[in-house]
Amino acid sequence: MPELPEVEITVRRLDGALAGARIVSARAPGINTLKSFAPPLQALAGRQIDGVRRRGKQVVLQAGGELALLMHLMSAGRLQLFDKPATPRDRTSRLLVAIDDGRELRLREFGTKQAAWAKLLPLGELAAEESLARLGPEAWPSPPPDLGARLSEPRPLHAALRDQRVIAGIGRSWVDEILWSAGLSPFKRGSDLSPAELAELSEAIASTLGAALEHYERTVSLPIPDKLPMPLAVHRREGEPCPRCATPLAAVNYEDYVMSYCPSCQTDGRVLKDRRLSRLLK
Ligand SMILES: [Zn+2]
Repeated sequence: MPELPEVEITVRRLDGALAGARIVSARAPGINTLKSFAPPLQALAGRQIDGVRRRGKQVVLQAGGELALLMHLMSAGRLQLFDKPATPRDRTSRLLVAIDDGRELRLREFGTKQAAWAKLLPLGELAAEESLARLGPEAWPSPPPDLGARLSEPRPLHAALRDQRVIAGIGRSWVDEILWSAGLSPFKRGSDLSPAELAELSEAIASTLGAALEHYERTVSLPIPDKLPMPLAVHRREGEPCPRCATPLAAVNYEDYVMSYCPSCQTDGRVLKDRRLSRLLK
């Protein structure tokens, strides 16, 4: 599930390996992966890659000084650089960019859902592109100084921090780690944060995401593994002892994700209602 640290390490590796390389062709075999039609994807052919960078959880590959390939990996996408082109049997590639030295950049997606997408835009239109224009400030390296105002709605922190318009880069995995690190309940409302809690939260955002990136700097190399070694302390570790206080970690299961927390460190000992379980018991 690529969030800010996973996308950041990906673009660092890709930028280092691809800046200055020349594209020979680009194609998008994925169903509906390419969400733009002008300029055509083949407009990338013959262009030099200027660089690869990140905004929120999205990737921008800039080419020829005038084109931007914007990509969103969604929940199961990976951006990987291989030494050789994919075989025709490859069913995971949604978009492929061939380099003139034989390497191939692939946007791959695991699982049956095709949700990852890309848009090729004139560079000048990138900033106004809706998925970027509505993004809030970056969560890392420095969370926004107005975080308190951004979280001032009476909305649970677990939802507010994942809202990319509020703050960009945090998703379902890292929000659990951040709230655990700050000792805050996932259901605490942003409008109820004291100044001390707000400072703790801001510090937890910066240090949690920063530590993840340091971990990836040591462990992640090209082509970028299918599964990144996420250094998670609480997310999806229900039943394991809290690394801070040894209380068994708890979880609330939703339709397509799980929220993990420590009842001692975060919710004053209260175990939150598991909605999936309570629905089954009705
Ligand atoms: Zn704990």
